[in-house]
Amino acid sequence: MMDRRVRVRFAPSPTGPLHIGGVRTALYNYLFAKKHGGDFLLRIEDTDQTRFVPGAEAYIIEALKWLGIEANEGIGFGDGPHAPYRQSERKPMYKDYVMQLIAAGNAYYAFDTAEELEGMRERLKASNVDAKYDAITRGTMKNSLTLPEDEVTRRLENGDAYVVRFKLPRKEEVKFHDEIRAWVSFNTNQLDDKVLFKSDGMPTYHLANVVDDYLMQITHVIRGEEWLPSAPLHVLLYRAFGWEEVMPKFAHLPLLLKPEGNGKLSKRDGDRLGFPVFPLNWIDPTTQEQSSGYREAGYLPEAVINLLALLGWNPGGNQELMTIEELIEAFSLERVSKSGAKFDQNKAKWFNQQYVRKMDDALLVPFLQSALNAAGLENNFSEAFLLKTCSLIKEKISFTKEIWEYSQYFFVAPTSYDEGVIKKRWNEKMPALLAEIKTLFEGIETFNHLAIEAAYNQALENNGIAGKDFLQLFRVVLSGVAGGPPLFEIAELIGKTESITRIENAINKLA
Ligand code: GLU
Repeated sequence: MMDRRVRVRFAPSPTGPLHIGGVRTALYNYLFAKKHGGDFLLRIEDTDQTRFVPGAEAYIIEALKWLGIEANEGIGFGDGPHAPYRQSERKPMYKDYVMQLIAAGNAYYAFDTAEELEGMRERLKASNVDAKYDAITRGTMKNSLTLPEDEVTRRLENGDAYVVRFKLPRKEEVKFHDEIRAWVSFNTNQLDDKVLFKSDGMPTYHLANVVDDYLMQITHVIRGEEWLPSAPLHVLLYRAFGWEEVMPKFAHLPLLLKPEGNGKLSKRDGDRLGFPVFPLNWIDPTTQEQSSGYREAGYLPEAVINLLALLGWNPGGNQELMTIEELIEAFSLERVSKSGAKFDQNKAKWFNQQYVRKMDDALLVPFLQSALNAAGLENNFSEAFLLKTCSLIKEKISFTKEIWEYSQYFFVAPTSYDEGVIKKRWNEKMPALLAEIKTLFEGIETFNHLAIEAAYNQALENNGIAGKDFLQLFRVVLSGVAGGPPLFEIAELIGKTESITRIENAINKLA
């Protein structure tokens, strides 16, 4: 096969919110396309109207955009040369292909009613045979292989309901190379004569998927493992159409597993363990059931990209924090694992924490500002004060929305003190020590953290108290809480007057 420009696609069906497993599939397609200087397409596979869910398509597009997984062509990203990219709008294109298969004897009309199909299943069940429409049973059913030609013509002219089924070869080994699993083979006796087309003019997933991949010149089909059983039929369809020369390479991605490792990660696992399994919040339009999303839970898109990229693929080496450019550079299908990847919610949080730490302080300021607005304190603090608070606090938080919770004491003096620390560390020597610190603080001219620390050490020495024992108590005196950024830097930022007031408050309240 001559070298073709790499073209891959993400082809979701709009049946609900996009699971993060689906997001990962989109991401791997995207990384692969960018790595090879190729194209990434978004195609909406909405041929199964019974499963169509309003809002799902818009959700998928919004999620990909939020994450920066931009398509070169496709719904929501600007049409390309193969428009339309929504299969329901491509409906008139598929009939010719199905006729081609029928003419060559690779597909046939079947007129069986639901009752007749059920009857066949019952009969076979009784004789303990795997009940399916296949090379063995098709001869006993109502189709263009068993009915006289004139009856088939009459039924078609009459407008009788029918489906077109693929005529699977009997007991044939279908072997194909998967980029992740190496050689995969299926015997056709495990499969059935899948429906390709219905008399309402709608193709099924299999036909539309293969025809569109062909027409859109897709070179690599990278999709979830759940589609592996469909791949032999797709290979046979390429053969039947005579398109083997341009058949895409297949890569079936491993499942995302529950944190415990057994079974596919589900919404229920997320609800049970408190993490989202969808990129964005979603409310089911029929049941009103709610699903939480990474975006609304406070995750940064870069963190979600990074964590998903490493769930099932490893770049080799120990580097875990990778920018999108680094991911593109390192990505290869060979390093995608065959076995499922366990989702780890703590690791997900860790990734977010790392990306929050990397954020510019200025980008965190608006989160503080909105909390200050809500508390009616918006005019009391300078931009420089807010910036410095963000730079001190960002080491301590995992999510931007935690910033107020962890930094309130920069803006409001504590009204209560961590009880555990008080119980453990407060004793009758403390009022005198604090009073001395206060006096030394009053004498500091340039109230910076070095001078503060020196004064503090001086007071401890004068009182014969070990620094280690007292530091946490002093933190509680100034902030009310037991942990936080470097204490003397907090004191510097809130300033001399405020630090002194807080020491006085503590003496009054605790002594
Ligand atoms: N429409 C299928 C899905 O919903 C696409 C599978 C494929 O990529 O071939 O996942």
